[in-house]
Amino acid sequence: MKYQGNIIKMKSSLAEPVEYVLPIGDKHIALNKFIHQKIILTYLHQINCISCGNKTNKSFGQGFCYTCFTESPQASECVLHPDKCKAHLGISRDQEWANDHCLQPHVVYLAVSSNLKVGITRKTQIPTRWIDQGASRAIIVAETPNRHIAGTIEKFLMQFYSDKTSWQGMLKGKIEQINLHSEKEKAYHYLPNELKQYCTSDNNISEIHFPVDQYPTKISSLSFDKSEKIEGILTGIKGQYLLLDNSFVLNIRKHNGYLIEIETPE
Ligand SMILES: [Zn+2]
Repeated sequence: MKYQGNIIKMKSSLAEPVEYVLPIGDKHIALNKFIHQKIILTYLHQINCISCGNKTNKSFGQGFCYTCFTESPQASECVLHPDKCKAHLGISRDQEWANDHCLQPHVVYLAVSSNLKVGITRKTQIPTRWIDQGASRAIIVAETPNRHIAGTIEKFLMQFYSDKTSWQGMLKGKIEQINLHSEKEKAYHYLPNELKQYCTSDNNISEIHFPVDQYPTKISSLSFDKSEKIEGILTGIKGQYLLLDNSFVLNIRKHNGYLIEIETPE
């Protein structure tokens, strides 16, 4: 089958293993069934902004045209720097968007993708955020009424924990053995009293299994900016990456808004 359209990041649902769907144009392609089969992706040399839909020669901030990157609330400073979110003070690019996104319950979590990292997300984005990062295990440390407080806690914990995923380690399936219960306890003790109040007593550890049989030992990163045609046997999916021929990886999220044709066996 051939499908054509603009792609955006894969949607996922928590199952054993995670199930992935690729949105392309107005279609959704379930991808897990193509593992061990050949797929061909061809870039049709057009990018449409994921916010306004206009054509753009270059993608800014993973899918925006330059105008939206500088003006759209989805590309606000607080997306990358949550502690700088000012929505709770009534300051934002779009207060309606801020009400729905920033002034909503958030969680601060510790997750193990390959290394241990601290992160935050809107509560409704759990477990999507963890799946997108390729995290194998995660625990919620704190729950806050808005993005700003979650960002403040994260910023504080960044003195002790990385906020980055080692994507290469994650894709090679190298997972550090971390005791998340004791790390959560440490995190609680690190926090100043005014932030401790947001820590949760729920110590559930989420475990996530990805559809990857065998992890690659070496990886090469593919991009439509360099190759128009990307093809191979789909050997697994983890985070927002397709693994091809057990050594090549394609970050789908990086190509948000790219116009693609995908050819699958059925
Ligand atoms: Zn735009």
